[in-house]
Amino acid sequence: MEGGYVNEEDSDAIMGVESPGGQLKTKNGQKYVFNGPPSGVYVSKPCLVVTAFIMVVILIFSILITYFVTSHGLGKPEANPSYITAQAQSKEHPEGNSTSVATAQFHVPDWLKDNFHTSTSSPNRIKDEENVVVPPVVKEEEKTIVPPVGDIPVVKSEGVNDDGDDITKPTDRLLQLHEGWRPIHYSIVIEPNVETSTNNGSLVIEIERDAKITSWEPIVLDVYNVSISNVRVIRSLEGNETDEVELDFDSDYGENNDSFVVKLNPSLASETQLKIALSLDFVSQVTDTLQGVYKTSYINPDTKKTEWMISTQFSPIDARRAFPCFDRPDMKANFTISIVRNSNMSMALSNMPKYHSDTHRLGYIRDEFMTTPKMPTYLVAFIVSNMVDSQYANSDGQLFPRVEIWTRPNFVDMTNYAYKMVRKFLPYYEEYFGIKNKLPKIDLVSVPDFGFGAMENWGLITFRDSALLVPEDQELASSSEHMQYVAQIIAHELAHFWFGNCVTPKSWDDLWLKEGFACYMSYKALNQAHPEFQIMDTFTVLEFKESMQHDADNTSHAISFDVRSTSDVRRIFDPISYSKGTILLRMLNSIVGDEAFRSATQDLLKTFAYANIDRNDLWVFLTRHGHEMGTLPKELNVKNIMDSWITQPGYPVVNVERRGANLVLRQERYLLPARNPLDKQRWFIPITFETDDLHKGDNIPTHWLTKDQEELVIPDVFTKETNNNNTVLYLNLNRQGYYRVNYDSVSWLALKKNFTLLPRITRAQLLDDALHLSQAEYLPYDIPLTFLLELYTSVDDELLWSAAKPGLNYLIYNLKREPAYETFRAFMKFIVRPAFDHYGLNEPDNESHLQLKHRALVANFACKFNYDRCTQVAQMRFREWMRDAKKNPIKPNLKSVIYCTALSEGSYPEWYFAYKQYKRTTSASEKEEILTSLGCTSKPWLLSKYLNMTINSTSGILKQDGALAFRAVATNAIGYEIAFDFLQTNIKEIADYYGDGFSTLTEMIKSLTIYMNKDYHKQQLQLLAANCHKLGLKAVESAINLAMEQVNDNIYWRTHSYDKLKSFLESIVSEFQINIF
Ligand SMILES: [Zn+2]
Repeated sequence: MEGGYVNEEDSDAIMGVESPGGQLKTKNGQKYVFNGPPSGVYVSKPCLVVTAFIMVVILIFSILITYFVTSHGLGKPEANPSYITAQAQSKEHPEGNSTSVATAQFHVPDWLKDNFHTSTSSPNRIKDEENVVVPPVVKEEEKTIVPPVGDIPVVKSEGVNDDGDDITKPTDRLLQLHEGWRPIHYSIVIEPNVETSTNNGSLVIEIERDAKITSWEPIVLDVYNVSISNVRVIRSLEGNETDEVELDFDSDYGENNDSFVVKLNPSLASETQLKIALSLDFVSQVTDTLQGVYKTSYINPDTKKTEWMISTQFSPIDARRAFPCFDRPDMKANFTISIVRNSNMSMALSNMPKYHSDTHRLGYIRDEFMTTPKMPTYLVAFIVSNMVDSQYANSDGQLFPRVEIWTRPNFVDMTNYAYKMVRKFLPYYEEYFGIKNKLPKIDLVSVPDFGFGAMENWGLITFRDSALLVPEDQELASSSEHMQYVAQIIAHELAHFWFGNCVTPKSWDDLWLKEGFACYMSYKALNQAHPEFQIMDTFTVLEFKESMQHDADNTSHAISFDVRSTSDVRRIFDPISYSKGTILLRMLNSIVGDEAFRSATQDLLKTFAYANIDRNDLWVFLTRHGHEMGTLPKELNVKNIMDSWITQPGYPVVNVERRGANLVLRQERYLLPARNPLDKQRWFIPITFETDDLHKGDNIPTHWLTKDQEELVIPDVFTKETNNNNTVLYLNLNRQGYYRVNYDSVSWLALKKNFTLLPRITRAQLLDDALHLSQAEYLPYDIPLTFLLELYTSVDDELLWSAAKPGLNYLIYNLKREPAYETFRAFMKFIVRPAFDHYGLNEPDNESHLQLKHRALVANFACKFNYDRCTQVAQMRFREWMRDAKKNPIKPNLKSVIYCTALSEGSYPEWYFAYKQYKRTTSASEKEEILTSLGCTSKPWLLSKYLNMTINSTSGILKQDGALAFRAVATNAIGYEIAFDFLQTNIKEIADYYGDGFSTLTEMIKSLTIYMNKDYHKQQLQLLAANCHKLGLKAVESAINLAMEQVNDNIYWRTHSYDKLKSFLESIVSEFQINIF
């Protein structure tokens, strides 16, 4: 189609009045010319014809003038070169004359002029000339810095993790990498407006030609729903630093309006050092889908009125929704940001400290911020709101950097824990990385509705409330698990300041590099701050569960993902990038040893500060330092080892066989629904092992099972005397390697006999491996069931109990709607009883972090398997709370199990009471506890009502929590069919409501499949996929196709393993004379 779109409806709403001639006036009288078309109504043909005619006339007129001017030698404009006037017009916008709110007084900074003639690209372009007001910059020499980038998965509780697929977008857009030009500096003035849902802004980008590209390319900016006007291209004249000239150019929106293309005159093609400034005005959208620049609101507790605020979420690819830019991680630049805000908003924050604030026009204030270090667009951030600070910066004025936490006034007393953690982690990272943080300030902000868990914008970290706020008030106190979660998220985001923000992966293909490092470092930092948490042990259960679960069937992808489209970018924010990334880095740490790993990391960060890396750079540094330390054998290099882990999906099972005195190892892929002997994927596997006689003392591998070896024979591990049935052998010490181990029956038996003597992590590892090996038919179920019985006596072994959880949950989901559940429940109740009788639902004071978490887990199992001592006490406690709502007698760690049990066993009074408390409480973690428990009810109409509330903005359920609430219903054996029905009926509405930024709908679909294990379930899903196809919801359709694989796995399990498990369970129940009731 031809012509341009003008979004009349929106423009009206936004600008006020429509004026003739395709221009729109703001209420303040500024005019806008829309030459491009985000979305909207088509301009009528007559209008186009008239416009075209006017344009042709003006064009001819311009040519005549140009001819006249040039032929008379008047090439140099006389206007003040450092001032971009509102009258300036390009030939693209002859009717120009538009003055945006922001541009009206926009000055090109002096340094920009100065740099027209410099060939260096130093970001330190501030000149200390007298009388020149320029934004202060962080100088290159100071670039020791390091703050983070980011986004963390949504986590908390079982289910809502990171983000993933692009959901609602009807068309998935290809990511095109345009080369030829690189940004050096952005000057952005932006005025976000809550009422009109638009950002008016202006922008000057200093751009240089990429010396590596010899062909003459156009300048291509990424945009999404952005209108652009008043485009100018200027450069200074050769040898004259004070003058500048405008260049001729053509500009237009690119295909699908997802880019803005500026073509300069080819006569400049020979200038390889060309540097220009591109200036333009723009209007972009303020979204309500938590992406780009978005608005969100909260109720002011004093006035009871709704307060609006503006926040941003640009990672991964939504900076282009805010302003035209080179929206790629390798296109780093300095940013100087100014924000114009209504004076009824008390504050504005951005990445850097504010250095100047003044009245912009009546009722509006303009805040100007210092220039950022060189960084990618996805780290740009700002906030405009009435939030308040917590006064830490004032009270700790002598500390560097300045750290402040911003939140709503009634939450200020919940920020102390987070502040303490920041002050603990920063010195740790500075010491570990050997690089000081030089960013002068770090603001942490709790945003009322936030898609990720948190985002590592450099200098301005944004969080959802529950990831930052920890109430100190007794009644609202958080669980130990929640405090650990908050600490870890803060540690993760701060680690990004070094890995991600200062040194950035070249492309989204290697997202895992920054996310893996941030996760891994968060464990190290937390371990240092709270050794009593034993968090490195938790790693071996938690991260392995996340990763292995997503990496087990054919829907998985290699960790280094070939990112080609917008939905690919969103999809890679998944447990493979985060959990597998961190597991592989920890494995590398064990391969080269602690010292080499740390020195390689330091070396890498220093070498590539403010630049980009890919994984090969990491391999080179680790190899060099591993060789220097002597921990990595000279004949090995890290690239050879890691390629097999990085470029292919999945993970191996190492099969162990005792052959005489020798130990023989083979490998195959762990694959759901069942092992596949034809699969030829192989890995380069580090091997560690211990026996009765051999205790290693470290984690550095002694042997390698390579890709080409059919089997690895390790000779003389057993002597004749020791190689009897009781000799213990176990592999993969401390679970440093990313693989499962399957032993021969002699070894399984010996491990079982000596179970209590084994190291703590090995015990947990054995139980988890056994349960999952049986799930995929590598092992018969009697072995994991035998190991499960260890829980009966291992009452205090919290790691073993945690390790049992993922495997048990799989069995619960697949049995709960089957007759065998009765036997399984009896078996599990029998196992859980001694631990519950020991711990109960009373929480004594002064228990350790681990004990508190462990009690909660034991109680969770006891109530889940209907141990009446648990369910009855839980109901009693809840009723006690109902009698006096203001005094909650339930201890923080037990809230989750008590709430869920009470709602599951109760009826609508319990449910409504809980919902009321949800609305009443000010604690974000309490809100999450209640949201999960609202899905526990067994009353179908309440479940249905609850789901409908997730797409009703007045229900009090935030968009950030939609997937959490849905999952709470879908994981309920009664609720999942209701959830499916809800999804089917409202698919379009849900897609529109949640937008495409955070894969809420994908998460919903994922959680739907856990109970689906029959053929007709597949047909239901196929129908849903067809419906989505019809509605143009392509990303949802592909999410359903991925989910189908999970259903296939379940069906396979139901057909092949159900009966066998059932008969094992029946014989154990009969052998131990377990009461079935
Ligand atoms: Zn991150």
